[in-house]
Amino acid sequence: MSRWIWLVMMWLISVPMGLAATPADWGPLEVVGRSIEPGSSARFPFIPDTTYQASLLNIPVFVARGARPGPTLCVTAGIHGDEINGVEVARRVFVGTDPKALAGTLVTLPMLNADGFRSGSRYLSDRRDLNRYFPGSSRGSVASIIADALFTHVVSDCDALVDLHTASFHRTNAPQIRVDVDDARSFELARHFSGGIIIAGKGPRGSLRREAVEAGVPAIIYEAGEPMRFEPDKIEPGVEGVRSVMRFLGMLQGKPVLIPADRIFRGSTWSRVPAGKAGFFFPEADLGDRVTRGQKIGYVVDPLTDVLTPALAHRSGEIIGLAVAQPVLSGYALFHIGEGGTAAPTEERSDVEPGEDVAGPVDVGVGEIQMRDHAQDAATGM
Ligand SMILES: [Zn+2]
Repeated sequence: MSRWIWLVMMWLISVPMGLAATPADWGPLEVVGRSIEPGSSARFPFIPDTTYQASLLNIPVFVARGARPGPTLCVTAGIHGDEINGVEVARRVFVGTDPKALAGTLVTLPMLNADGFRSGSRYLSDRRDLNRYFPGSSRGSVASIIADALFTHVVSDCDALVDLHTASFHRTNAPQIRVDVDDARSFELARHFSGGIIIAGKGPRGSLRREAVEAGVPAIIYEAGEPMRFEPDKIEPGVEGVRSVMRFLGMLQGKPVLIPADRIFRGSTWSRVPAGKAGFFFPEADLGDRVTRGQKIGYVVDPLTDVLTPALAHRSGEIIGLAVAQPVLSGYALFHIGEGGTAAPTEERSDVEPGEDVAGPVDVGVGEIQMRDHAQDAATGM
């Protein structure tokens, strides 16, 4: 067994994080070999080993140990290295948290895929998506090993988890919380996020959020904006949302803000480019727009024939994600339309695995394009 795996397994196992304590035994917190006193904060690497492979686990860890007892909230970001809005949300939340005014503990891992973040890549160096390898294995690929170390020595000791994302390549998302509404504690976190919309779904197998929930840690995702840019209008609602959750958990003074019931979406589907209609795509509707079935919300023009095809809303609802203007091929996801109303507990169409279809073609009866129902895919950035 290599030295760095041994370090992860033996050294970290010996110093697990503490859980919420009673006032009498509320003391220093041990996290990956560091001790953080009540009323103080610290920033340090997850593992300081300098070996070639262990540098992938040289992940920044920020911990604020509250002066008073309370739960442990974990905030993770940058699991997809190009989704930088979330990294800034996590940074601002931590910087804005005064440990002397805090009850409980804030553990922030703002740059989980630090390697990918530095190179602007969604993936790890081995081209794997870290967010499909949880809860991980100490004997698998490097993605499995990283997932296992994080899951075993941080995530399993969190009382709640907020994982921060954006849409994936060349797409953008309205601020939205993804949650398994069947998990009551997770749903309560989502409802107290203060802003954005809630979309019901369990998330893909192997994702940090889904596996955390299945391991008993209530967890939600906040998704906002697009990769590779900082967008203040998507960052600030995230910061406010995490702070509202901290108020809900009793970690900060003040009242949390509830998301209204009519901002909870029971499901969502993607409109895609049908077969033979590739070209240059230009959206004519924006995030947050209410659209009706059959409405023209963009177009695709074939650059070689100049034939223009309208892109029509395949159903009525609200645009919660969309592709930016770009060349597109058949099957490419263009508009993510949410269906309003209070979430039905078993609905999870918004979280179907990449590439899976949940319905056949839908003839909207207008124009040349027949948009199709599809569930979300990697486009959503989860
Ligand atoms: Zn993501």
